[in-house]
Amino acid sequence: MKPSVLCVCLAAACSAPPPPAAEPAAPPPLEARASDFEFRRAEVEAIVAASLADDGVFRSLERLIEVAPSRLAGSPGYDRAVEWALSEMRDAGLANLRTEPCLAPHWQRGDVERLARVEGEGGASVGEYAIAALGGSVGTPPGGIEAEVVRVAGRAELEALGDRARGAFLFFDEAMDPREIDPFAAYGRAVWQRSRGAAEAARAGALGALVRSMTLRRDDFPHTGAMRYEPDLPQVPAVALSTLAAEDLARRLAAGERVRLRLELSCRTLADAPSANVIGELVGREKPEEIVLVGAHLDAWDVGVGAHDDGAGCAEAIAAVRLLKTMGLQPRRTLRVVLYANEENGLAGARAYAADHREELARHVLALESDRGGFSPRGFDTNAGPEGFARLSAMAALLEPIGSARVQPGDGGADISTLGPSGVPLVGLVPDGARYFDVHHAGRDTLEQVAPRELQLATGAIAALLWLVADDPQTFPRNPAR
Ligand SMILES: [Zn+2]
Repeated sequence: MKPSVLCVCLAAACSAPPPPAAEPAAPPPLEARASDFEFRRAEVEAIVAASLADDGVFRSLERLIEVAPSRLAGSPGYDRAVEWALSEMRDAGLANLRTEPCLAPHWQRGDVERLARVEGEGGASVGEYAIAALGGSVGTPPGGIEAEVVRVAGRAELEALGDRARGAFLFFDEAMDPREIDPFAAYGRAVWQRSRGAAEAARAGALGALVRSMTLRRDDFPHTGAMRYEPDLPQVPAVALSTLAAEDLARRLAAGERVRLRLELSCRTLADAPSANVIGELVGREKPEEIVLVGAHLDAWDVGVGAHDDGAGCAEAIAAVRLLKTMGLQPRRTLRVVLYANEENGLAGARAYAADHREELARHVLALESDRGGFSPRGFDTNAGPEGFARLSAMAALLEPIGSARVQPGDGGADISTLGPSGVPLVGLVPDGARYFDVHHAGRDTLEQVAPRELQLATGAIAALLWLVADDPQTFPRNPAR
């Protein structure tokens, strides 16, 4: 906005009659808000430049993958990830380092995971499909279970199924919709098959659920993920099929072939296991009791190494705060890094944090999460109300030079979701989502899939936003508590 225009506007406003007392003052237009942060532009540029000059975030992620490639809740790998987090936070100079305990579900995949196409009852295998048991699935008896396959593509076909799946494997084959611009939206619409497939199969009298992997990619990597049983229904085994396996099955069934499969799984659920969130802080210089939280989850599925999901988010959260500290930017409020336990199969860490910090949540000014992969940042999503949304948009506008200025409505992320009911505004980093579901929960989620430069851009975006919120003389507008 040009100064002359601004003057005209101000003059007009001054000469206007005052609004009636009963009417609440209209919020200033977004443009005016954007200018509120213009004086921060040089700081944001310096933060981004420092982030681009330092590949420490990638090296930190490398160390995590080296010491804890497999780190599902309850596993020895998770404990090693906790050690990694404490060590990285210590090296970053964070204060008040600690672990906070929780009890997490303890599911083990086991060694046996096999789906074979067989010739007739008890017949020899004539081919195997790439599968991964879904997290929480029961196993099969030794030797496996055998049945023919019935396919459903979508809820309408499931509802019209009648008795056809009784005694069979029920094959859920609704693909993620490639026409959705946002792959997260396509995932959100299709993922019921993974989370509820076993329960729906049991309701239909089927012996097990086979679910097409939640990915747009055609390959032979099955994508695992959480599922849940319903208390009143039998617990039947559930597996993800690679997309190539799903397409082969679908093709055979469409050709009228009767496909018989033998499924053998040795996965099992043990008693809940002790787990922990890991926490460190950069204490605020003026209002240390007010907290701006940055979170990610430390656990990961066991089929890849969780480089994107969510090793990247953990490394970014620590690196962003380390960056500010190294630059001598100690904000007014405290920055708290929280690396959560058990996001993937239970959210035990997120629940424990909200319960243990209940008394303090009124002083949580904002929570930011990174859990959508270590890709180039595009902006943020938020559950903030109109005032917070405008304020966040004005802050993010300063990240336009790195393409991270877009702010959209959303829920922020799973780990911080437990803070929402207390009125804490939730914000999620939104990176480029085009490739996330290629790797998500699959053997493809490896360090080679992560570009250091993209991690550095994301770290810069997170650090800048943390700085803007935590150093803002004004407190970020709170949401109504629910
Ligand atoms: Zn994740």
